[in-house]
Amino acid sequence: MKILFNLVSTVALIGFASAAFAAGGVVTGPNVVVPDRYVYYPGTEVLAEEEVRVIACGTGMPDQRRGQASACFVFEFGNGEKIIFDIGSGSMRNINALMIPAEYLTKVFISHLHTDHWADLNALWAGGWTAGRPVPLEVWGPSGQTPEMGTAYAIDGFMRAFNWDYQTRSYKISPVPGSITVHEFDYRAVNEVVYDQNGIVVRSIPAIHTGDGPVSYIIEYAGMKLVYGGDSSPNKWFAKHAKDADFVIHESFANPEYFVKDYGQPAQLAWRACCEFHTSGPSYGKIMSEINPGHAVAYHTMEEAHQEMLLGIRTTYDGPLSIATDMMVWNITKDGVKERMAVSPDRASGVPGPTRQPPPDRSIPDPMSDFIKSGEWGPGFNAQNEMLDEFSKKYDLEKMDWREKKPWYKPTK
Ligand SMILES: [Zn+2]
Ligand SMILES: [Zn+2]
Repeated sequence: MKILFNLVSTVALIGFASAAFAAGGVVTGPNVVVPDRYVYYPGTEVLAEEEVRVIACGTGMPDQRRGQASACFVFEFGNGEKIIFDIGSGSMRNINALMIPAEYLTKVFISHLHTDHWADLNALWAGGWTAGRPVPLEVWGPSGQTPEMGTAYAIDGFMRAFNWDYQTRSYKISPVPGSITVHEFDYRAVNEVVYDQNGIVVRSIPAIHTGDGPVSYIIEYAGMKLVYGGDSSPNKWFAKHAKDADFVIHESFANPEYFVKDYGQPAQLAWRACCEFHTSGPSYGKIMSEINPGHAVAYHTMEEAHQEMLLGIRTTYDGPLSIATDMMVWNITKDGVKERMAVSPDRASGVPGPTRQPPPDRSIPDPMSDFIKSGEWGPGFNAQNEMLDEFSKKYDLEKMDWREKKPWYKPTK
């Protein structure tokens, strides 16, 4: 039996009684701790072995805003594994707000190659590198009708586009975290296993969205079935293979009127965008009524359109539902789903993990020429000598003082 705690956002969206739910639990005295009924503070809760925590790190449109990034959902499993499903534009700042050490964020599954589903891979790649990730990233994603439309081609192009970044960081920091291992699989696979490690199985089903290639993922863990749907219009594979899942994420779009008014789209585009290559509210509800999930999550629409979309969904579905916003969190067990919001400081970033990075690669050509080095302005560098001397003593770096090779170096003593 599913126990549901998801009333808060639904009630707030409908626009009444939200004040009654504003704080947590019963407070029995003036000097006691308020129970965290609606808040998840990242990094403060250990998952049970058979539990999964899902955090929405992007729920919006390709034109990411400060308050809503593009598609991204982080899955944390009770066995310690973490997998990022889609990493759309702007989502990395939300991922970082979870304060997870970079070395645990190495696995990314991409549903399709629209930028709003993978464009922040660059921020994870370089940001995680700088934040201490000691290993390469691994990316799973679908093939396309031709090699040039597949994930491996995209990552190859990514590495060429960011070659300068790769070369300079490899020389200065470490080359290892800069490589990406790609696992491309056939987008036509229907419910076939594309990942099977440490008790987590991920299957892929085709999606229908603007061209061949997009997929959705079905995740099995601890006897539960969870589904991450990338962009798709209603399709038979989803209706069949997501059936009876414990937790289902699927896109849902605002109605066409909204895109005409808010996005200035011509009507002939608006009614295809929402309803031919995406899924509208009423269609989303129809899908959920068919698959009857333990809990349904809708995402991929601007927050200001949520109420209208919710009304559309409710014309065809009356089951458990979250309209996802960035930093919404779900704890999922066989007993049910608990929805909360993650609360984290704007300036949080990943915290250090236990592993140190391998050394830099000095066998590759120095990416800085003598011409540029000759421009180093000594007085500016020497101005920090006192601070650096102290640091060097504290960390026992006296035998590896990088300043000694510099023509401008004037030691303080
Ligand atoms: Zn798309
Ligand atoms: Zn999208």
